[in-house]
Amino acid sequence: KKDAKKDAALEDAKLIGITVDKAKDFSSWYSQVVTKGEMLDYYDVSGCYILRPNSYAVWETIQDWFNVHIKKMGVQNSYFPMFVSQRVLEKEKDHIEGFAPEVAWVTRAGNSELDEHIAIRPTSETVMYPYYSKWIRSHRDLPLKLNQWNSVVRWEFKHPQPFLRTREFLWQEGHTAHLTKEEAAKEVDEILDLYARIYEELLAVPVVKGKKTENEKFAGGDYTTTVEGFIAATGRGIQGATSHHLGTNFSKMFNISVENPDGADKPRVFAFQNSWGLSTRVIGVMVMTHSDNKGLVLPPRVAQTQAVVIPVGLTSKTTDEQRKAINDGAADIEARLKAVDVRAIGDYRDIYTPGWKFAEWELKGVPLRIEFGPKDLSSEQATVVRRDNGAKYTVKLAELETRIPEILEEMQKGLLEKARNDFNEHRIVVEDWKDFVPTLNSKNVIVSPWCGDSECEDDIKDSSATKDDGEEEEVDEKAPSMGAKSLCIPKEQPELKPGQKCVKCDKPAITYCMFGRSY
Ligand code: AMP
Ligand code: ZN
Repeated sequence: KKDAKKDAALEDAKLIGITVDKAKDFSSWYSQVVTKGEMLDYYDVSGCYILRPNSYAVWETIQDWFNVHIKKMGVQNSYFPMFVSQRVLEKEKDHIEGFAPEVAWVTRAGNSELDEHIAIRPTSETVMYPYYSKWIRSHRDLPLKLNQWNSVVRWEFKHPQPFLRTREFLWQEGHTAHLTKEEAAKEVDEILDLYARIYEELLAVPVVKGKKTENEKFAGGDYTTTVEGFIAATGRGIQGATSHHLGTNFSKMFNISVENPDGADKPRVFAFQNSWGLSTRVIGVMVMTHSDNKGLVLPPRVAQTQAVVIPVGLTSKTTDEQRKAINDGAADIEARLKAVDVRAIGDYRDIYTPGWKFAEWELKGVPLRIEFGPKDLSSEQATVVRRDNGAKYTVKLAELETRIPEILEEMQKGLLEKARNDFNEHRIVVEDWKDFVPTLNSKNVIVSPWCGDSECEDDIKDSSATKDDGEEEEVDEKAPSMGAKSLCIPKEQPELKPGQKCVKCDKPAITYCMFGRSY
């Protein structure tokens, strides 16, 4: 009877596993990994998804880390309403032009049409700044630095993607006002550094820091800095997070001004403002980067569960005494790890075979599996297996508290290194236009000398929108014919040669720019 139960469990194990190959059908693979890994579920409003504990825990880790760092910078958390009146939303012209097509409106309450339609924030500049105007009276009220953790709604019509592009998404949005441009600009860079650290230190995902071109900058802002990621499996770039300097564009519209510190007779000074945001998109980038055909691979620092302890080697011949010793030993390992803040759990369910359990925890991305069986018991050791590369370690029980955290850190480092190599190998310097599209088609992003001209940028996009051979199925049906956008002007630049021409036109290059198909 027990064997029949086990057989049924094994059948289940097959059913819950990933059934498609990451390299062959990335889109279905991603969908299976996030749903079977219990990160997310689909919802009956298109473009909206449920974040389950396995992904929300990642978000909480990011929140905890980021809160510590922004609070050190003097930023305070607060909360503003999700609704904004049409009149206020439309105050900054460029801003609303950028967002108008995606704004969702409340037009009715019950059966009655509202006299004034109310927008749901796509971002909160216009929600917050009337109050910045009210609260900032003197230069002593500056800087004002507020952040909120909230959700925003952008009713996008581009293909939705779990985490990457959703109609409602969670993020943090920071909004600060400063007396001088220099002070504001310094903060823009500091925040961008924090974003890069979230990607690299927490999620083990490499990014390239840079500046957006005029075409791609935030609507209504002065300039936008960005961290750009790379999805190796599709060769596409992805905007990771953005830190904007808004100049005085909004402060002029919303009258956020103070008396000139140089004297009341001098003109009032408009505040220099920044806004910066990082969304739950980061989770999707992390999943796409590290996960494999067995399911999720979670970087240890953000994994809800870092190690699962599983008793092994128990057979029908195992004596009750030995069975108890092994189960107790496993429970002891779990307790000792928890005592040193390793997020460990034990899986003592006896209706499943160890093999079934291995597959289930692999699917969920738990970084370490700790096996404890008869041989381990007699040798006072445990067998540890890394989720990312299958590496096996024998750890003396006496060294559990030091070795497990070390192995977790090694794995964390290993994931970043591997992803960084992938990104470096697929970020190719191209100086000749003839190499541009072929390089793009081999799943690379491109760094090219560029003239800085917006029309040339559009031309690059149009001219690179060629059909692939159509062999691989892309995440987004439109992807193969999609042109290369400018992703950013990287902060770290190759040196421009004297007389270097733009990759596309005959004008002289003024900078290197990173281009790629993107999400
Ligand atoms: P933005 O305010 O447009 O600069 O957006 C800030 C950040 O939010 C971007 O850098 C993206 O990483 C992220 N983001 C933008 N749109 C979406 C979306 N539809 N779903 C998830 N994340 C998004
Ligand atoms: Zn050009």
